[in-house]
Amino acid sequence: MPELPEVEVTRQGIAPHLLDQVVSQVVVREPRLRWPVSDRIQDLVGQRVRSVSRRAKYLLLETEAGVLILHLGMSGSLRVLNPAPPPGKHDHLDLVLDSGAVLRLNDPRRFGAAIWWQLPLEAQPLLAKLGPEPLTLAFNVDHLATRLKGKKGAIKTALMDNHVVVGVGNIYANEALFAAGIHPKRAAGNVSRARLGKLVEEVKRVLARAIEQGGTTLKDFTQADGKPGYFVQQLNVYGRGGLPCNTCGTELREIKLGQRATVYCPHCQS
Ligand SMILES: [Zn+2]
Repeated sequence: MPELPEVEVTRQGIAPHLLDQVVSQVVVREPRLRWPVSDRIQDLVGQRVRSVSRRAKYLLLETEAGVLILHLGMSGSLRVLNPAPPPGKHDHLDLVLDSGAVLRLNDPRRFGAAIWWQLPLEAQPLLAKLGPEPLTLAFNVDHLATRLKGKKGAIKTALMDNHVVVGVGNIYANEALFAAGIHPKRAAGNVSRARLGKLVEEVKRVLARAIEQGGTTLKDFTQADGKPGYFVQQLNVYGRGGLPCNTCGTELREIKLGQRATVYCPHCQS
């Protein structure tokens, strides 16, 4: 599943090809994505792309007439093709630009989304109640301490709650908690302020490092073949249950927490 770093790297990869381009055609081959793609998306035709930004895992293509909100769901990826080869089975949406380039959405499982939004973004229900971006100053120890105060649920579950902070998916929650030395099942309201400060730092560090690594391995979003969007990184705990801890050698434990694979070191995390 594309996590925040993949979405950010995608944004960085496609933005130069889209900025200031006019959309000359919108081709919807399969409107049955997570939500049906509205016919109103044709209002994009003739519009100039003013910015390509990201909020949580949503990509926002802003024009004068409205914003195209794209989400990659479980299996989606975006490429910029020029010239574009004939579409494949899972190439559900093309944005043809006046440069001749095509932004193509591929999504085998169709949990992704393409939403044409013409009101203020603050009024968009998917975006309205989101917590702060993890890599901004708004995500800090004061914010986290306030949001977690009195919470009895597990710290890992709270960290993955989009109302607390956006874009900390399962991989990065596991890694950040390990780096901060915090047991994933510890009650969220029962983590000291100093340790929350460390956790904030580590969330930022693991995400920033993933974006940096992704940026170096995924420079090219213009290849017709290949699979842009996902990358493998060096991980300390995620996917390593039963293996020795990289810090102390203790066998890492794997449990389910909120149905998500959770791996931790019983010695390093408390
Ligand atoms: Zn350890």
